[in-house]
Amino acid sequence: MSKSGTLYTVSAPSGAGKTSLVKALIDSLADVQVSISHTTRAMRPGEENGVNYHFVSQDDFQSMLGESAFLEHAEVFGNYYGTSQAWVEKTLAKGGDVILEIDWQGAQQVKRLMPDTLGIFILPPSQKALRQRLTGRGQDDDSIIDGRMAEAVSEMSHYVEADFVVINDDFDQALIEFKAILRGQRLRQAKQQHRHKELLQELLK
Ligand code: 5GP
Repeated sequence: MSKSGTLYTVSAPSGAGKTSLVKALIDSLADVQVSISHTTRAMRPGEENGVNYHFVSQDDFQSMLGESAFLEHAEVFGNYYGTSQAWVEKTLAKGGDVILEIDWQGAQQVKRLMPDTLGIFILPPSQKALRQRLTGRGQDDDSIIDGRMAEAVSEMSHYVEADFVVINDDFDQALIEFKAILRGQRLRQAKQQHRHKELLQELLK
């Protein structure tokens, strides 16, 4: 097991800046990849199949479920989402770290199946800031924003299940903290033993 990378789940309410933080992390740290989930939801403008998600039909999703292709899956806001088990296992076996950008339901399932998984929760600096971020996205009326806020509060209540919490007030600072989590884990004795096998043999002969 020491041969494999570390599996992380990253959860956050919508509007906390999770996707931007994960992207900045992947762009600035080597040997870490983010899993591309399968989803039945419709593609949004600017999204690309195979980049943001693998966009699939309900039927295809159900057949993948039947083939046990998913490490975890969940229904979020009426759409189905799932993480490819084969891709995660292959990437971890090669020694790379893997990030799953998934909701709390998925994070719970993964932790149950793979207890070494580390959960990271990203939170906004205040309810006011979150509301502004959710409002800033379009011209939705107050009742829609209220609904999104209620969903966000419900998601945030699961922060207690995570191993790490990052508050995304200042983006650069949040990125430093996010990276520190991955860097710190890479220094664990078991990981170092594998990475520096030859050095350790040489030092101890
Ligand atoms: P969106 O549709 O806005 O991209 O994502 C909606 C929610 O679904 C987010 O909380 C996101 O983290 C979550 N999500 C995305 N992919 C997966 C997945 O593969 N599994 C689970 N459980 N949640 C996911």
